[in-house]
Amino acid sequence: MDNPSPTVNTAAADEAARVKAADRAHVFHSWSAQELIDPLAVAGAEGAYFWDYEGNRYLDFSSALVYTNIGYQHPKVVAAIQEQAGRLCTLAPGFAVDVRSEAARLIAERTPGDLDKVFFTNGGAEAVENAVRMARLHTGRPKVLSAYRSYHGATSTAINLTGDARRFGNDSATAGVVHFWGPFAYRSPFYSATPAEECERALRHLEDTVVFEGPGSIAAIVLETVGGAPGVLVHPDGYLAGVRELCDRYGIVFVLDEVMVGFGRTGRWFAAEHWGVTPDLLCFAKGVTSGYVPLGGVAVSGAIAASFARRPYPGGLTYSGHVLACAAAVATIGVMEEEGVVEQSARTGAELLGPGLRTLAGRHPSVGEVRGLGTFWALELVRDRETREPLVPYNASGADNAPMAEFAAACRKAGLWPLTAGNRIHIAPPCTIAPQDVAAGLEALDAALAVADAHT
Ligand code: PMP
Repeated sequence: MDNPSPTVNTAAADEAARVKAADRAHVFHSWSAQELIDPLAVAGAEGAYFWDYEGNRYLDFSSALVYTNIGYQHPKVVAAIQEQAGRLCTLAPGFAVDVRSEAARLIAERTPGDLDKVFFTNGGAEAVENAVRMARLHTGRPKVLSAYRSYHGATSTAINLTGDARRFGNDSATAGVVHFWGPFAYRSPFYSATPAEECERALRHLEDTVVFEGPGSIAAIVLETVGGAPGVLVHPDGYLAGVRELCDRYGIVFVLDEVMVGFGRTGRWFAAEHWGVTPDLLCFAKGVTSGYVPLGGVAVSGAIAASFARRPYPGGLTYSGHVLACAAAVATIGVMEEEGVVEQSARTGAELLGPGLRTLAGRHPSVGEVRGLGTFWALELVRDRETREPLVPYNASGADNAPMAEFAAACRKAGLWPLTAGNRIHIAPPCTIAPQDVAAGLEALDAALAVADAHT
């Protein structure tokens, strides 16, 4: 599925140049030095693919930003949004409206345990902000603990909970955030020999952190059920159950952030199901509408909802539970049920992606570890499998990042749009990806990994 080399179609090239110039004129891009970027001009998208103006088609192994769980332009969701727009585009959050109640019911029925009320937001960071606010008000305690290897969003509290380098430049905007080390067997902060030992040591470290910070001052522990941006970190068995038990023992609210992994990504509706754990608050966004209209939220336990039964909850958003977004959610969840998307994600992981990626690891010395679940995987690229020296340093940029930039360019040349971060490639195609597209993606990765191998 090699893409053609530079086009000879000057009309298409002119159109791409016009779109890029218009972008450059007035769009201020996230996370970027505005003059040092060159965004691809995209002409359209469908299913697992998008394409540019010059005839290059890309298999999207990033699902946009890990959110097009049912692929681009699913006709049933597009039709539901159009139908809702024709009927009623918007209504203030304070009113009762059918489509919003229906979205909340469908979500509450799929979240684990007694997470039966849904507070709607416009995205993931706002969900995390509100989960923290609920936990603080519910407990009357100020502090919040989160993992160093984490990403929770870019608003004030969420970016300070975030452990990775994206919080630099935003640090200290929120008092009371304390970071701890979660388990990560491949690069163990605890020098453990086995996942079981890593689990035990990580739980002991977390309890020590709780004790030294003062359990009576800690409102919440916030964790990604599977670490997404930090590199598809699948916690060892027993870890989440151990955190649940710790939270119960010290009266701490357990918040699971499922913004990236909810709605089928890991082969379950919510990743917490893999370990039979129910948090007190569960944050979601992305896959709930496959990103067609922005929506996020917090699923709230009975006990925390009861905290606000007779006193007002002091938080809200103008567009909370926007009816177009709720219509998109109802249709997306409907499609996921009708087409067995969650089961397909699990099957694709177990039968195609997992085995395929492990085969690639066997052939390419630059692959240090393969990890993942469902349609959510990462390859950790290394210079040396023995020492596990990463292909590029943590937080690499510029010349230091050249090997990963070369690798990503080789993916794109092979027709694959990759999601890379640090020394990792994250593999997150739509949960609906067809088997032949998985095969095409693995073939493209096989070709591109030769570029990474050259640095081993
Ligand atoms: N939490 C997690 C786990 C995420 O992956 C993200 C976004 N990648 C967020 C929160 C923030 O979501 P948003 O960008 O919609 O605010």
